[in-house]
Parts: sequence; C-alpha cells; structure tokens
Amino acid sequence: MQQEVRVRFAPSPTGPLHIGGVRTALYNYLFARQNGGKMILRIEDTDSQRFVPGAEDYINEALAWLGIGIDEGVREGGPYGPYKQSERRDIYREHVKMLLDNGRAYIAFDTPEELEAKRAAVANFQYDARTRGQMRNSLTLPADEVKRLIDAGEKYVVRFKIEPDQQVTVNDLLRGPVTISSNVLDDKVLYKSADDLPTYHLANIVDDHLMKITHVIRGEEWLPSAPLHQLLYEAFGWADTAPRFVHLPLLLKPDGKGKLSKRDGDRLGFPVFPLEWHDPKSGEISSGYRERGYIPQAVVNFLALLGWNPGDDTEIMSMDELISKFSLDHCSKAGAKFAYEKGLWFNHKYLQELPDEELARQFRPVLEAHGVNPADFSDEYIQKAVAMVKGRANLVTDLWDQARFFFVAPTEYEAKSVKKRWSEDTPAILRAMIEQLRALPNLESKPTEDVILAWIADKGYHLGNTMNALRLAVVGECKGPHMFDIIELMGLDPVAERVEAAIANIKLPQ
Ligand code: GLU
Repeated sequence: MQQEVRVRFAPSPTGPLHIGGVRTALYNYLFARQNGGKMILRIEDTDSQRFVPGAEDYINEALAWLGIGIDEGVREGGPYGPYKQSERRDIYREHVKMLLDNGRAYIAFDTPEELEAKRAAVANFQYDARTRGQMRNSLTLPADEVKRLIDAGEKYVVRFKIEPDQQVTVNDLLRGPVTISSNVLDDKVLYKSADDLPTYHLANIVDDHLMKITHVIRGEEWLPSAPLHQLLYEAFGWADTAPRFVHLPLLLKPDGKGKLSKRDGDRLGFPVFPLEWHDPKSGEISSGYRERGYIPQAVVNFLALLGWNPGDDTEIMSMDELISKFSLDHCSKAGAKFAYEKGLWFNHKYLQELPDEELARQFRPVLEAHGVNPADFSDEYIQKAVAMVKGRANLVTDLWDQARFFFVAPTEYEAKSVKKRWSEDTPAILRAMIEQLRALPNLESKPTEDVILAWIADKGYHLGNTMNALRLAVVGECKGPHMFDIIELMGLDPVAERVEAAIANIKLPQ
C-alpha cells in the first residue's frame, strides 16, 4: 500500500506571517490535496523569547482567508496532537533522554559568560569534537559531579554530539543531493533546562517523525539546518522513515537581487503580509493584502506562480486547477522575483469575474471607510454602480475612486474641463436638458440617449461641450462610465440637484 502523503506548515508565532511563509503554506496545501494527503499546521512556539501574542490567531486567520485548509492542527485537532510545541514538553524530554542514553548527546554546564570568554580567547571558536573536551560538560566531568550539579539546580543545556569527519548528504527533491562535512557543524543545543524547552531543531525533528510527515516543504532559508536534521534522524534510528526535503526558492526583491523585505514593500507600495498587522509592542501597523482590497483567490494564484509553473503559459488558475496541475518537478530552485505588479494584474482579472453581488459585498466596508452608509443605498444600486466601473479597477479599494460620485455629490469640479466645457450658456442648456429628461416616461439608457442627442442636434448645441458639462456637474470630472448609464442608475432627482449645485458653484472667470 502506498504511504499517505502528510505535510506540515510549521510557523513560529513570532510576528505576522510573511508572504513567503504564505507561499510555503500554499505549496504544502497544493501538494497534500493533489496526493489525497493531509495538511498539518504545527505551531512551533519553543522560543519563548520571541513569542508574540496574537501571532497564532493571525496565522489561522490568514490561512482561512486564503482558503488554505488545514486537516490537523491546534484548532482542528487530530490523532497526533497536541499540535502546539509548548504543549509537548514531556515528549521532548523523553526524546532528549533517548539521545543522552544512547550517547548521541551530552549535558553541558558552560555559562553564557564562560562561552563568551572562550569565543574571545579562541578565534572562530566552535563547540564541537575538537573543543568539547576543554569545556564543562558530562563528557569531561565525573558522573557524580554531573548529578550533583543537576541536583543543585545548576542550569544546563543538552548538546548534540556530532561525530567529526562524516559526509552528510541531504537529498533535496528540487536540488538533488547536497553533501557537506560534519566538521562544519557545531554541537547544537537541543534542550535548555532553564525553560524546560527543546530548541527548534530537536522539536522539529521529533514532531516530523511522530506526526508521520512524509515531505518537508519549506523555505530555502532552512536548507543550512537540513544536514543537522539528517544527523538527528540517524541518531534516533529513524533514517529509513525520514521525510523527503524540498527547499523552496527565496522570494526576491521586485527590482533587484536579494531577499524580499518589508522595506521593499514600504518603498514600492505593496504589502508583504496577507492581513493587516498591528504590532502589539510598537503599535506599528503594517498593511495587508486583505485590507488593501485584494481578492484571496487572486493572491493565491499570484503566489502559486512564484517558484512554480504549470508547464505551459496558463496564468489564471483556480485553487482546484492549481491542485490538479501542481508538481514539484515544475518548481524552480532559482529565486523568484516578487513582481507585485503582476499581483495587481491578477487581482484585476479576478475582480472582473466576481459576481456583482459579491463585489458589492466586498465594496460595502470601503464605502463605510469613506463615511458613506451603505444602508442608504439599495443592494441593486451598489451592485450596478460597481459593475459599471470595475473595468478600471485593480483592487476593491480602487472602486471608490471610480464610483464615489454614485454615492456623494461632487463639491469640486475639475478646473481644466470647466475651462474647456463650461460657458455662460451652459446653465440654461443644462436646465433645458433636465426638462427634456423630465418629460420622458423612463430613463432607460439607450432610448434616453437617442432623444437627448437628437435634441442637442436639433438645437444646434455643441455635443461634446454639452455632454461634458453635464458630466462635470454629476461626476465632478470628465471621466467615468457612459453618461446615460449613470443617469439611468441615479435617477432624475439627484442629477437635477447636481446640475443646480454646479450652476451655483462653478464661477466663470470674469
Ligand atoms: N518553525 C520554523 C519556521 O518558522 C519551521 C521551519 C520548517 O518548516 O522546518 O519556519
């Protein structure tokens, strides 16, 4: 029987999830779904110094917003829980003891000051096979002394005893075998008695094993840890069932080399976080894709193509299509430029496809943010208004600029167009046009247009000036959807009021 594919996303709750982390989660999810496997969310909170309140909720909310489903996790439960590392102390303690008992780890009492002094005295000091004999640990101290120190409550760490002169090979599915010498590795700390917690390395390995993870798909920044992890699997006797590794390429700056950073986003004006983040300590607010007006499916589509391609030039793909097309063979190992403008393009495309009802639903909070009460307008009105302008919008928030005049009357009139289109005769012409409109049985766009254009021609008025003057009065500037569509939707009274307001407000130069 083929083994069930089990992958995990294992973030540390040290702040908002970075967009690169979101891509890692997405690839894990696509791989799991494609193989009919399981997606596990494990919270790696063993670093108590870096723990940030709210970060775990943020991770859950971000994944839910994007439609990245979790099969087993803190909220979902599952057969291999708990899924939060701080709740698994007993398990780690037991595993640390296994390594101490089989001689693959040892206890070290060196204080931070002692280590500091050693580093100052010895250039490039590394705690390893060459130096551990000079340090204060269970390999150099008599057993009864070790016991006495522990009983006396002396703080200690457990270190991994790395054998020198070994070739360590990591088989990365993207990168092929990567071999290094164990001499470059130091005796990593696996456990600290001070907070009775393991370090990332031990907890990560133990959990991947116990949770029966088959593939570790994570960012390239974890590649340097992989040889150590390989040695840990061997030390536990788990090498045969060790997961396969996939280290995804870095996300790079949009305009150059180097890793994408929050500063790039600030500089070029795009978010690097899925949701807005309020830093609990500094109070700083970082923008998020959701609040900027992105559609989650568009963000998913955009991220999926940063480091993977479907083998042809298809770009628009739903989550289901991504699941069926995804393959590790088409993942690249070269860094992926974070072309955020392409993200806008995707959003534009998705926005056009959203049903008007849904678009209107997403637009309501934008209206509120601009001081408009959506309840003052019918659902149908809001839907028709957004439908008319969406072709010019990339983001849901862009709809405001395009559609604001449907909700608030202009108070200013674009000066250049006033100069070009408004003259002494304009008030009388516009008032007469309103009377023409009032005489019609309804304001259906096309028949109204026919009548009004015929009237303008009959009177010998200038078509462009007349229609643009009306547009100035209603919209405030010479842009926007077809004028007769606007009139049909708004109805005569608001249009007539705006014409009067414009006549009162527009001052012609004397
Ligand atoms: N806790 C690590 C992180 O924050 C997990 C790395 C891994 O996936 O092994 O990304």
